[in-house]
Amino acid sequence: MRMVDLIARKRDGDELSSEAISWFIKSYTAGDIPDYQVSALLMAIYLRGMNQRETVDLTLAMAHSGEVLDLHDVAPFIIDKHSSGGVGDKTSLAVLPLVAAVGVPVGKMSGRGLGSSGGTLDKLESISGWSPNLTLDQFKKQLREIGLVLAGQTSDLAPADGKLYALRDVTATVGNRSLIAASIMSKKLAAGTDAIVLDVKTGTGAFMSTVAAAEDLARLMVGIGRDAGRQVVALISDMNQPLGHAVGNALEVKEALDTLGGGGPDDFWHHCLEVAAHMVRLAGKAATLEASKALVREARDSGRGLAKFRELVVAQGGDGRQIDDPSLLPQARYVEPIEAPTTGYIRAMNTAAIGLTCVACGGGRYVKTDRIDPAVGIVLPAKIGDYYEAGQTIGTIHANDEMTLQQAQRDIPAAIYWSDNPVDRPPLFYATLADA
Ligand code: URA
Repeated sequence: MRMVDLIARKRDGDELSSEAISWFIKSYTAGDIPDYQVSALLMAIYLRGMNQRETVDLTLAMAHSGEVLDLHDVAPFIIDKHSSGGVGDKTSLAVLPLVAAVGVPVGKMSGRGLGSSGGTLDKLESISGWSPNLTLDQFKKQLREIGLVLAGQTSDLAPADGKLYALRDVTATVGNRSLIAASIMSKKLAAGTDAIVLDVKTGTGAFMSTVAAAEDLARLMVGIGRDAGRQVVALISDMNQPLGHAVGNALEVKEALDTLGGGGPDDFWHHCLEVAAHMVRLAGKAATLEASKALVREARDSGRGLAKFRELVVAQGGDGRQIDDPSLLPQARYVEPIEAPTTGYIRAMNTAAIGLTCVACGGGRYVKTDRIDPAVGIVLPAKIGDYYEAGQTIGTIHANDEMTLQQAQRDIPAAIYWSDNPVDRPPLFYATLADA
């Protein structure tokens, strides 16, 4: 087979055969196809799409590009969650320790920042020494010992996703339903989880801008999971504004720590409570969602969730002192207020632009080799529906050089739209889809 023929087929809107997809994934994983040809194929897929059969083939090929774990020798039932990506989406940082603290083992493969969306691994790497690079033996040992492990794509597990993910990030080919579904579900299938809660975002900061598109992506992933014998629940959640207040790696770790400690922004906590409760219920720890929420609240109020987060950090080489005292996390040189340009109600936000402002400050990547500045970002307590007088502070920019600071001071206000009249607040969730 020749890669150029696959590119041409997809460019012309034709289907790729199962054999072609399998060959492409195997050859790319082995290093036999250059990034420039894969970039061209990704763009063709982005523009032309893939049908259900192609998407399933791509998912399975990616899942089998490395080992496929069976973790039942470690724990009888493993649960995982995955977000389709959003701005300020630090949900995993709070939810996973809470669920593990309830006694449900969590073994997760996470990703890095993608476009305007942050990545859990980049956030955790704000903590000195923390590493997502675990061997399979280390992954299993940690899961057995503390019931919580969070790893990156490795050369052992779904390596094809690791390579494609990094390439999509820098070739503007992220927001395609088949590529997202295959990326997320291949990791879940390879990591041997029994049940998965998918947090599918919709809105101006999500890869799926409408609820209908998010539901379509959710249905695709729920179907792939069901056919592979996994229990899957998908929540359609709002991303028309950043989740919580913090956008930026260390800033988000701090906000997750606050939340585990009983504080943190209301929207973020209620979002986490819902996602965590679905995980706890799927794992059979409680019969109803309400009873599951009670268990999650108790895990937070008792401090066991925060203690579990610290255990996770230390187990993977991180500095536990930064968890005990978050002021030891990286701090930006400049912390400057953002002022309301007018008096009125916040009507809408260009949430992707807020995420991209964080990237421009150094909090994300333009090319694969870019190094992340963990300290930078935006803290934006202002929410859609809030009322401000002109000149009041609506947030702060955290930057490490004057140029990006000044640019962010222009870009953030430009991403927020105002109204003279009261505005309804968007809901946190729109729908729940399950495989039953
Ligand atoms: N998360 C992933 O793991 N992959 C995507 O493509 C988007 C979000």
